[in-house]
Amino acid sequence: MRWDAQRLDVEDTSTLPGMPSIRGLLRSVRVPEFPGLTFHEVRSRSALNRVQGDSAMPFPWTINPYRGCSHACVYCFSRKTHEWLEFDSGRDFDAQVVVKTNLVEVLRRELARPSWTHEHVALGTNTDPYQRAEGRYRLMPGVIEALAGSGTPFSILTKGTLLRRDVPLLVEAAGQVPLGLGVSMAIWDDELHTALEPGVPTPRARLDLVRALADAGLPCGVFLAPVLPGLTDDEESLDTALGAIAAAGATGVTVIPLHLRPGAREWFMAWLRAAHPELVPRYERMYARRAYVSAEYRTWLAARVAPLLARHGLDRQSGGAARGVDPAIATGVPGDEEVGFPAGSLPSGGMPGVRPKDRTATPAATEKPEPGRPRESEEAGEQLSLL
Ligand code: SF4
Repeated sequence: MRWDAQRLDVEDTSTLPGMPSIRGLLRSVRVPEFPGLTFHEVRSRSALNRVQGDSAMPFPWTINPYRGCSHACVYCFSRKTHEWLEFDSGRDFDAQVVVKTNLVEVLRRELARPSWTHEHVALGTNTDPYQRAEGRYRLMPGVIEALAGSGTPFSILTKGTLLRRDVPLLVEAAGQVPLGLGVSMAIWDDELHTALEPGVPTPRARLDLVRALADAGLPCGVFLAPVLPGLTDDEESLDTALGAIAAAGATGVTVIPLHLRPGAREWFMAWLRAAHPELVPRYERMYARRAYVSAEYRTWLAARVAPLLARHGLDRQSGGAARGVDPAIATGVPGDEEVGFPAGSLPSGGMPGVRPKDRTATPAATEKPEPGRPRESEEAGEQLSLL
């Protein structure tokens, strides 16, 4: 084994018995600085995951340093993927985090292959690369350096203010390759934020992150997501949010209503029943047949948001091309393929940032899922090949 537990700077190196059987697992640890979290350190066999052929996402490759997410958003659509690891999609998703500790080493190897085509690589499409574990494992600096050094355009989507640590590296990377940065935020009410995003830095802290990126001359598209019907879609809330996002210097903004996939639906609806029982019938109607809200609600929300975007200079007309949705890469946000990416969140300009027509699958992506295991996300190939 070329790397082992001793290379990590840990206080408690005890291996926890009785943990799930995860492929590549080296050890499972708990450390005092991260109470309530268990890190499952695995040895990855690959770092780059091919996006599945039928996805509309505008990037052909993803990297996910972590599985599970301590940000613990109740509405998170990635929850279901934790079940593939034989964890549950609730508390386990929040607290049992798989860490690909040899990720950078493997990534450097993959990027050095003569066959590597330097296509856009996206981070943050499944779980947050700047969740709390990143403070301990520091995988992202190596990932950024490896991608930029190899001439590979990339994008990062996060709710984690830890990204600020890597701003100098990102500035350097922006001189080498096209890159996009996206920050997600939606809830401005403190009580609602604490209830629904208990592990996520406050909206104010995320605004400061947007401002720091803008001050550093980096692009930053904001996903105003998810908008919660009946809870955060009133005009005043949206106006406050968009005003603050514009003032922070975002290069673009996309407004996305809540979607409820299986895995997230159960947890969100349980919360809604306890916190806002009066809204349950409405949500059951809205999300009766599908994970996304109805076209009628989308149209209503778009009409409500349009004048607010204009008021704050975030629409294409009044704000210019740099402050709206990039029309060249307009569809396929993670979890909602019908919605566009905000300007600045994807590496546009210069090298192509969209997935190629040739979608030849890698061996990992063509593997068949094990019986009973779903195959619905871009992570499926990785899931089968690594864990
Ligand atoms: S930050 Fe993103 S990945 Fe993490 S729990 Fe929240 S929605 Fe899910």
